Amino acid sequence: AKRADGGGVVVIGLGRFGCHLAGSLARMNREVLAIDRNPAQVQRWSAQLDRVVQADSTEEGALRQLGITSFGRAVVAIGASVEASVLTVLALVELGLPQVWARATSQKHAKILSSVGAHHVIFPEAETGDRVAHLIVSQLLDFI
Ligand code: ATP
Repeated sequence: AKRADGGGVVVIGLGRFGCHLAGSLARMNREVLAIDRNPAQVQRWSAQLDRVVQADSTEEGALRQLGITSFGRAVVAIGASVEASVLTVLALVELGLPQVWARATSQKHAKILSSVGAHHVIFPEAETGDRVAHLIVSQLLDFI
């Protein structure tokens, strides 16, 4: 059975990136706690994921009540709102989550995330763009 033994992952923000991430982790048999403030998103993913809850992740008290301190890792997958992303990272750091991953949408956003204590900053769009460019170029080379 899956337990919150530090191996579980909290995924916050079930946009396109967050829901793919949560789904992949679940298929890898990780305990996943998914959080989104939008009830429609929570409803939409509740069939695919074990635990999906509606909460505003910028509220430290709400996160504590959900028992996130028993998780070893959290990923903040919120992209569009820099404010919500930064306040969520801050709340997770204050709660003492050992590994906080955060998605940045710009270099300045990344700087703020690091300065409030994010342990890892990721750029899904930039990283995918780079990877696809390399893929295309390597396939072009195959044709020469
Ligand atoms: P994607 O590109 O992954 O689709 P996006 O940048 O278009 O993401 P965002 O606006 O970043 O979308 O939102 C991603 C998800 O994060 C949404 O489902 C939104 O409801 C959720 N979200 C935003 N703010 C909060 C918050 N304070 N607490 C919880 N969830 C939030």
